This record gives sequence, structure tokens and C-alpha cells, in this order.
Amino acid sequence: MLEESARVLNIANAKKLEAFASAKDDAGEKLRICMITVPEGQEWLAHEIGARLRELFKINVYVEKRDFVPAQPDRGGVAAFAEGLRGKLPWHDLQFDALAAKEGIGDKDAATDGQIIALARRHVQNQEGDRAAEFLDKSIQFAAKHTSQWRADTLIARLMLSAMPRTGPRTLYVALIPQDIFAGNNNFMFGSAQANGDYGVVSYHRFAAEFTGETPKRERLATRTYKQILSSAGHMLGVPRPSSPLCARAYPASLDEHDAKGDKLCDDCRAGFAKALGHELGDSQGAR
Ligand SMILES: [Zn+2]
Repeated sequence: MLEESARVLNIANAKKLEAFASAKDDAGEKLRICMITVPEGQEWLAHEIGARLRELFKINVYVEKRDFVPAQPDRGGVAAFAEGLRGKLPWHDLQFDALAAKEGIGDKDAATDGQIIALARRHVQNQEGDRAAEFLDKSIQFAAKHTSQWRADTLIARLMLSAMPRTGPRTLYVALIPQDIFAGNNNFMFGSAQANGDYGVVSYHRFAAEFTGETPKRERLATRTYKQILSSAGHMLGVPRPSSPLCARAYPASLDEHDAKGDKLCDDCRAGFAKALGHELGDSQGAR
């Protein structure tokens, strides 16, 4: 019994990261990772994923809590929804363009969110009928209530400014946040990181059961987030994008594609990371 609990405790401890404040500046150390958590986030997730990274990369991984995400989102759910519609509506279809003109919309980018939503509703009603239009209304109501988005670039800048720079080896700061993020033409993103830089933000908003409607499962959430962090870390370390669609770092167009990838790196990525780190990766490839 005691032995059993000691074993369980050891496993738990093995997954616990040290606080970044306690990091020693080891002369031989080339690179380390600091997982940043936010007060409103899931701290266990940073420990879980950080431990996998530590095993794979064979470097020190620390954790630090910082309150760098503003409470106010950069855009609300309705604006985000309208932006999604703007991209999806069948512009240049003759019949659709005639309908848009009738609604007073000449240029989709100049139209207000309200105009876009009204146009989409009319279009859906014409094409699919009342029930589809009602479904659209419900989706908009859901978006208004549940979806707020933060601009990824702004968050990265705020993360950079959230603490005084430290001496010591190069440190990758990877923030793990529950907030949904977007940038430019990307209506949402799983992560955003500086190319060959030290700062990145990974959002697990769209990986979580609250968003997908799945039954909550820690392992699934951790694996999805871990794969995204491998992508972001590779970007920060200048590891080229892989050509293998099975690689954990392959670009996913959707959550389904993200799930379909394994959580292992392809040989090219392993070689790329090894070059950036200056040593071979762990055999485990992140498996526990
Ligand atoms: Zn790869």
C-alpha cells in the first residue's frame, strides 16, 4: 500500500515542473523552456505537457504563472461569427450577388457585421428554408454568449512585456491559455509563435470538451495541446515545416485533422530539433 502510493507520488512528482524562479543558470545549458500559465487556465496541463517536452527534448522545462491576457477580448463572438460568414458566403455567385445588392451590400469587406448576418440569414432562408435560418440564429446567439477572441500578436507582445528579461541560456516562453485566439485572415488559431523567436502562445480553447461538446478527457486535451506545442516550438527554433502529414507538426486544417495526426515527430523534424538543440532527442518521442 505504502509502496503503491510512493510509486504514484513519484509519477506525480515526475510530471511536476519546477518554478522558473528557481531555475539555475547552468553554464553548459543551451536551451530551456518556460511554460507560462494564466490564472484562469489549467495548470496541470502545463505540468503534463512540460514533462512530455522534457522527456522528448532532454532539456529543463519550467513553469511560471503570469497574468498577461486582458479580461476584455479583442472581438466578441458576433463579430467573429460575422467574419467567418464573410469568408464562407458564395460571393461572385450571380444569384447571391443580386441578393447582396438588394440588401445594399456592394463590397463584402465594407459591409457591417449586422449587414453580413442579415444577408446570410436571407440567403440561408432562400436556400434551405426556415429551420436552417432558425439554426443560424441559434448559432449566432451561442457565439454571442460563448465566444470571445483575443488577437494573437497582441498577446505575444503582452507576454514579452509581462516580465523583465532574464540572463542565462536561451529560453522559449510558451504560454498555454484557455482563450480563443485569431490573427489576420485566420478566423481562429490553435497557436501562434515568433519565427526564430522566443515567445509563443498556444490556445487550448478549441481542444477542450467545453468547446467541442465531447465528454471531458484529460489525456485527449493534453495530447492535442502537446502536438500544437511541438509545432510552435519547432517554429520558434527554425525547424522547417514537415512534409509528412502524419507528423505531429503537420499543419491541420481542422481539429479532425489535428486528431488524425500521431503525437510523434517525423524523422525530418527529429533531425531538425536535434540540430537546434545540439543533441539527439529522447527515444520516447513524447510517449509516457
Ligand atoms: Zn515532422
